[in-house]
Amino acid sequence: MRFETRAIHIGEEPNFQPGGSGDVTTPIHLASTFARRRVEEPTGGYEYSRSGNPTREALERRLAALEEAHFGLAFSSGSAAQLVLLLTLLRSGEHLIAFDDLYGGTRRLFSHIFSRVLSVDVSYVDARQPANVQAAIQKNTRLIWVESPTNPLLRLCDITALATIAHSQALKLVVDNTFMSPYFQRPLLLGADVVMHSTTKYINGHSDSVGGALMLSDRELYQRLKFNQNASGAILSPFDSYLTLRGSKTLAVRMPQHQENALKIANWLSHHPKIKAVYYPGLADHPQHSLATQQMSGYGGMISCDLQADRDSTARFLAQLKIFALAESLGGVESLIEYPALMTHASIPQAEREKIGIHDSLIRLSIGIENVEDLIDDLKQALQLL
Ligand code: PLP
Repeated sequence: MRFETRAIHIGEEPNFQPGGSGDVTTPIHLASTFARRRVEEPTGGYEYSRSGNPTREALERRLAALEEAHFGLAFSSGSAAQLVLLLTLLRSGEHLIAFDDLYGGTRRLFSHIFSRVLSVDVSYVDARQPANVQAAIQKNTRLIWVESPTNPLLRLCDITALATIAHSQALKLVVDNTFMSPYFQRPLLLGADVVMHSTTKYINGHSDSVGGALMLSDRELYQRLKFNQNASGAILSPFDSYLTLRGSKTLAVRMPQHQENALKIANWLSHHPKIKAVYYPGLADHPQHSLATQQMSGYGGMISCDLQADRDSTARFLAQLKIFALAESLGGVESLIEYPALMTHASIPQAEREKIGIHDSLIRLSIGIENVEDLIDDLKQALQLL
């Protein structure tokens, strides 16, 4: 089955079992517990909704199918998925290597909980050069954590090269694939061990559910993750599972439109006199455009750019937009814009932000699937204020 078909059918096969109603969409199973006829075993296969729920399992099968993984797990948020994964893979006193450009909340989780509370040592490196990752490996290193492309600077790393480095030292490679979605990039096929998503973003796609996912093919690790998910309670609710199943059906229709709009807007921005630099891997002058073309099948809908503006005029520009909503998050059908220094990446100390390249002039756009001319007109009228 091809991607578009899997996105609609896997996990939602009509139930023709005796007593099954043949629903073409999976029902929302709200029961918190499931009765059994005999004490020895759960009669219908389910015991308690934290441990397993039919709607969540339908989504987990869908998620695995999208990433071409054997297993999927659905969590209450992307951050919850990260927490359970890190707790499963790391012990106190161990070390992880992370791309220095990451979603601010992921760095917050590493630095505030894993470093400070659990004494896990974290090295942030520029993973655009695989040699930097290789050089950071220590005796106690257990895993390499990357986003590609990164949030917010749209930098890439060579996933195949990093997988080779990781596996030569028995390390795990985790890829946060939130920005590309499985439609444009499948890191497990490039050698990654675990893929992580904030399903809040493109997979659900409608800005009405917060959720997270892990996809992998290693059965033993899956069983440990499932045990720890159940033990910690970090599960996605039945209603959010239903919403995410519903949203994922149109992933293959939405992603090409996000990309078409983003490419036009990135091109337009790159010729605007008030724009200093545009970061979009689909532009031929993006420094990693050829790697993007090689390891992804598209360039996605996220753009960042540096404005010729100070904080005050940037704030005026953002307030002047009529269609773009000034909001955190991304990946929904509607266009959003945000100011990383004060919003998504405010938890990173300013000096560190500047070192990576997240300057006060940087804004990040999540390009929706509205009419692209309306989006350009909106940006045009607001940029006139600068
Ligand atoms: N990873 C990336 C790339 C993100 O952008 C986000 C949220 O913005 C997360 C992880 C965290 O996911 P959630 O907000 O669902 O906890």
